[in-house]
Amino acid sequence: MIVCGRSLDIFFDDIEWFHGFVSPGLVLGGLMVDWAQELIGPHVEADAVSETRHCLPDAVQIFTPCTIGNGWLKVLDWDKFALCLYDKRKLEGYRVWLDLKKSRLFPNIYNWYMRRIAKEDLPLEVLYADILSARRSVLSCRAVRIETPFRKKPIKGIKVCTGCGEAYPASQGEKCSTCLGEGYYV
Ligand code: ZN
Repeated sequence: MIVCGRSLDIFFDDIEWFHGFVSPGLVLGGLMVDWAQELIGPHVEADAVSETRHCLPDAVQIFTPCTIGNGWLKVLDWDKFALCLYDKRKLEGYRVWLDLKKSRLFPNIYNWYMRRIAKEDLPLEVLYADILSARRSVLSCRAVRIETPFRKKPIKGIKVCTGCGEAYPASQGEKCSTCLGEGYYV
């Protein structure tokens, strides 16, 4: 079995190397990326959207060239287990998601995702085996056109903060956000 161009061993190794540990969300996410990549074809420069901050962004970052840092991956905080790969010029691509109705045929996957079973009652090896045998039969896909392309906000000007001496985008105001009291640390 080949997933995202890798043997299963390497698929699991790459997840562990990047994510720190293997998780069901990443195994499933890898299968979702695999399908989206196949649908979009090999020679397309794709951007990606993850509709959750959990697990899926790492599946995209491990198995595609899209990362948060290079701006090709957008992460929406919707907690929907869905992702989209699309041609960044034509703005056309495919959305792949965990189809709950289909997942009912695989009770372990359904119960895991719906948090209906305690972790100790569902050994991970069992869940991984189910996810790998289900493969695309718990997923759905649809061709989509991107209506509102995600664009990086350009930084228009840089100022030096009079409070901390660090550079910051001038659009934030007279001082940097931290010195204006919006910092996350004390
Ligand atoms: Zn400052």
